[in-house]
Amino acid sequence: GHGLEFLEAPARPSAAADAAQRFREAFGAEPAGVWSAPGRVNLIGEHVDYTGGLALPLALPHRTFVALAPRTDGTVRVRSAQEASGWDGSLADVGPGRPDGWAAYVAGVPWAMAQVDGAPFSGADVLSGGFDVLVDGHVPLGSGLSSSAALECAVAVALADLAGVDLRDPRASDAVRARLAEACVRAENDVAGAPTGGMDQAASLRCHEGAGILLDCRDGTVRHVPLDLAAAGLALLVVDTRASHSHSGGEYGQRRASLEAACAALGVPDMRAVDPAGLDAALAELPDDVTRARVRHAVTEIDRVRRAAALLAEGREREIAGLLDASHESLRHDYEVSSVELDLVVDTARSAGALGARMTGGGFGGSAIALVEIDAVRSVAAEIGIAFAAQGLRAPQFLPALPSAGAARDL
Ligand code: ADP
Ligand code: MG
Repeated sequence: GHGLEFLEAPARPSAAADAAQRFREAFGAEPAGVWSAPGRVNLIGEHVDYTGGLALPLALPHRTFVALAPRTDGTVRVRSAQEASGWDGSLADVGPGRPDGWAAYVAGVPWAMAQVDGAPFSGADVLSGGFDVLVDGHVPLGSGLSSSAALECAVAVALADLAGVDLRDPRASDAVRARLAEACVRAENDVAGAPTGGMDQAASLRCHEGAGILLDCRDGTVRHVPLDLAAAGLALLVVDTRASHSHSGGEYGQRRASLEAACAALGVPDMRAVDPAGLDAALAELPDDVTRARVRHAVTEIDRVRRAAALLAEGREREIAGLLDASHESLRHDYEVSSVELDLVVDTARSAGALGARMTGGGFGGSAIALVEIDAVRSVAAEIGIAFAAQGLRAPQFLPALPSAGAARDL
């Protein structure tokens, strides 16, 4: 057809075996094991994690694998199948801003795990002994599908497992997974220097196969929401625009600051505290149209997550389509974080028959999602490909998004 590029996730056993083989080639030794963690896509609840909101992400079948062997001399050696440069260093030299580059997402994890008070892994020898690790990722890097959290979380489960923490039952181990997520957030914020919320790590560590999670961003609690789209005849199509989100950093900070100022003006701790039924009265208290638009997004988006979760709990998957559309319009016009490419995916998907579509992730590039009839996946993707070609844009990449399991040991 039109050069449609579907990025299928490789089968876990063969991807794990590949990572082990790459470890042998890189280090000339056997790894102690192979662990993996998934990327994620957010179904709904965008740009509200930093204002006490709700989000509803699911884990992708696309995972990052780490083959790892512990050491005893405090040295860390990291290699990646996706990056030419590796890093060799000492754990003693890891800290805020150090090391720089992608190794921060690896070396920052034991540093942060050691600081989680009272967790069963905090004092483990493996956190100070160091390790050799080979990373092999199948989550596209920098596409808003959280390859960064997948990398951190794969390292975290590897180290926790080697420390003797039992993570085999995803339900029984949820509490300790929540502590690991805290450590991974800290590694990303403090060591890698990326000011992200906790959604990505919660999804990568705490999702179960066949479900999304309703994440309460006030306290980090999670409710598993069954998501059997296939049974409803539906599929979730992820579209990676492959457009860079280069100015997202400053814009992200401005949006956060705008909501913080609005909270102060309204005398509320976060946007979750604003009753959607009283939105007009709250808006009337705000100083300008831009702040009003930002607040309208946050308050209505949190409400849409509640509605989507309620519909999914009743098996009414089809009916979330309108909420996805409304979320996109809100992000596009009120929060102003969409882009030409994201709008093109959403508009084209809808006119090609998608039930609903929206940008997902931070915006300004990255990825979008479309809820489509299973039989229409290829035709909707084809229309999007044609629209991108007609605008002279780089061809997007498509990913199937079956809700998948959280981080675990593979070999
Ligand atoms: P996203 O999380 O949406 O993919 P980020 O910018 O948060 O985008 O994270 C991408 C960064 O994570 C990469 O630039 C790289 O530093 C690191 N990373 C992720 N996966 C890998 C990998 N397989 N090998 C090396 N580095 C990786
Ligand atoms: Mg990331």
